[in-house]
Amino acid sequence: GHVEGLVSVTRDIASRKRIEEDLAHAAMTDPLTGIPNRRAFFDMAGRLEAAENDGAPMTLALIDIDFFKQVNDRYGHGVGDEVLEVFGRTAQAVVRASDILARIGGEEFALLMPDTDIEGAQVVCRRLAVAVAGMGVETPQGIVRITVSMGLAAVAGCTDLALAAADTALYRAKSEGRARLRVAA
Ligand code: GH3
Ligand code: MG
Ligand code: MG
Repeated sequence: GHVEGLVSVTRDIASRKRIEEDLAHAAMTDPLTGIPNRRAFFDMAGRLEAAENDGAPMTLALIDIDFFKQVNDRYGHGVGDEVLEVFGRTAQAVVRASDILARIGGEEFALLMPDTDIEGAQVVCRRLAVAVAGMGVETPQGIVRITVSMGLAAVAGCTDLALAAADTALYRAKSEGRARLRVAA
């Protein structure tokens, strides 16, 4: 009858809405680590940029796993994947709820820290380095350990400029020996 028809239409709409939400979530999420992907990162960064937090500082960190190719070469791609997964969990546990951590490349992550100046961001990055140092992935050939290199830059209204600056700082961290943090000039 009418009621059953209405109930079924309502269910139909609800389940379609649910499917749409699931698809939207999947489009924004890195399937391996479960954290936001590159698209989600730029989406959220653009929104924060537009919100113009009345002069509140915001800092961006680029984080790249050191010698990750060697992990794949020595232990296999599956172990490499597991390292990425564990790194994602480790980093997520260290950052604050208001920070945005995303996987923006193969073994490259971005961390956007609203209401955080360079000094505050350095504290977060040091905490992350300590957590990463304590992280290990067990394999039949032994425990895999990693280090990360990080580049920090203040976001003064433009995420793209901050990304370029953080990338230059990251490059310096790499060329000066890796496993370190460098701040954009
Ligand atoms: P560097 O210290 O200079 O960053 O050296 P690296 O070896 O980490 O950097 P490089 O760019 O040479 O290699 C990155 C490697 O990351 C190569 C690529 O195969 C691997 N990689 C990228 N995405 C994934 C992934 O999803 N899973 C696994 N297992 N490996 C990945
Ligand atoms: Mg790397
Ligand atoms: Mg890289």
